[in-house]
Amino acid sequence: MQNDPWLRKYWLEGLLILLLLVAMGYFAWIGYGLLPKPPTPEPRVFSGDRAHAHVLAQTDLGPRPTGSEAAAELRQYIMTELAAQGWSVITQTFTYEDTEVTNVIGRAGEGAIALAGAHYDTRRQADADPDPEKREEPVLGANDGASGVAVLLELAYALDLDKLQHQVWLVFFDAEDNGRLDGWDWAVGSTHMAQEWAEGKAPGTATVQAGQATPTPVPLPEFLVLVDMIGDADQQIYMERNSSPQLTRELWSLAADLGYSDVFIPEYKWSLTDDHTPFLAEGIDAVDIIDFDYPFWHTTEDTPDKVSAESLERVGRVLETFLEEQAR
Ligand SMILES: [Zn+2]
Repeated sequence: MQNDPWLRKYWLEGLLILLLLVAMGYFAWIGYGLLPKPPTPEPRVFSGDRAHAHVLAQTDLGPRPTGSEAAAELRQYIMTELAAQGWSVITQTFTYEDTEVTNVIGRAGEGAIALAGAHYDTRRQADADPDPEKREEPVLGANDGASGVAVLLELAYALDLDKLQHQVWLVFFDAEDNGRLDGWDWAVGSTHMAQEWAEGKAPGTATVQAGQATPTPVPLPEFLVLVDMIGDADQQIYMERNSSPQLTRELWSLAADLGYSDVFIPEYKWSLTDDHTPFLAEGIDAVDIIDFDYPFWHTTEDTPDKVSAESLERVGRVLETFLEEQAR
């Protein structure tokens, strides 16, 4: 081997090629370090200003009572927003008092189902207006209607879907707010949803044709967090007496952690019938986050100037943090 002429002839070339390869690797490694890295996506954070824009988009449609053209336009707006943010959209339609009622739902994530809900209809008569002349007029519902929808729509944007602790359903209830008018009940859309679901007919369940196998029923939701009238610039959210106590404590304590204990007041005050009631009746944990200290409730003065971006943001951040970080 020592006298192999081939080896003597080419060892220098071999060494040069080796050095060249090492140099190429080194500069490739250096160069890689200099390349702009693909930006890691910023975690999205709930914005009160974006939510407030959703309030204005709704009030621009005018009053939105169940069955109206404006309600149909709002439904389209909600469905478009949900789909644009990657939520799969389903609807649940039925007839009540000769009126078509439609709940809208956006779904994302996996696992046990958690509902975040709000009603999107507005009351068709301002029967609490101080001026008797105006009590037949419809309510614009900037706070009573639009604020809750706005929080859900901004959540559809702000929630980081890979962080969700549950399969989250954003639920937009129809026909909450005509109670005691022409014999209508309160919470018509949510009552239908909760009762049907308890009977194995969750929203989105296809009707079974003769000869077809019955699909596995969708399990009942683990809980519902309802938001209603939460946009008042003068915000004070007391604990609601019919809500599930444990879930209430969790939400108010989270709000305190976020620095909102002056607004999420850890004391009971009101006792209300709302879209959480029919879910509680089916044994499902439910909480109504509602600021019922609102002088313009069911009046013609429930207008966007009463609603603030900061108020929407506080409630939105509580829900956002709860759904992204709190495994129950
Ligand atoms: Zn109302």
